[in-house]
Amino acid sequence: MTRIGLVSDVHANLPALEAVLARLDAEGVDRIICLGDLVGYNRQADECVALVRARCDLVLAGNHDRGAIGALGLDAFPPAAREVIAWTRAHLHREHVRYLETLSAFAQVDQELLAVHGMFVPEPNDRFHLRQHHVPANMAALARRDARIGLFGHTHQPVVYVEGGGAIAGHGIVTLPGRWRYLVNPGSVGQPRDGDARAACAVLDRARGQIEFHRVAVAA
Ligand code: ZN
Repeated sequence: MTRIGLVSDVHANLPALEAVLARLDAEGVDRIICLGDLVGYNRQADECVALVRARCDLVLAGNHDRGAIGALGLDAFPPAAREVIAWTRAHLHREHVRYLETLSAFAQVDQELLAVHGMFVPEPNDRFHLRQHHVPANMAALARRDARIGLFGHTHQPVVYVEGGGAIAGHGIVTLPGRWRYLVNPGSVGQPRDGDARAACAVLDRARGQIEFHRVAVAA
């Protein structure tokens, strides 16, 4: 498990998902982790759930996934998101509903690595957007589990937060020296919110101690 592909916030954008998976294949990864929000905002929900299920080795639930299966009320979403969640509830194949029901918003991947859709505190959840002012509490959550790297999504912005330090924008290669803890967001596949419309993904290379951020142009 040296090179781990990271995808998050696919949001039923099939061309973007296909584009990042092709990039991860070209990069050579041993496994792929999806940090949640397979559906929402777009309408290729069945196609994206099927492809994530087929290609990703670990898949978390995001708030849109829970909304789409009725585990989270429509009132938990901004008005702009509600229509597609309601549409997804009405159209998602029953087998995919059952699959989303099996997903959790948090996973301890191994001793070093935790993954969550939103934040690790107050408990692993998909409610909060992890921003700079949340970093100390989330680093403490990593420390309590003796973990070193926390993967998260939900904000749609690629970033690395360094323990005791600041935020590093998620571009190119960021080295992760072993003496610190890190919170890492690979960015969003289907709906980037950092001013770059290209689909985002990342590769965590544990042998090299680095995270590699990728952006992939998606044909309209
Ligand atoms: Zn999202």
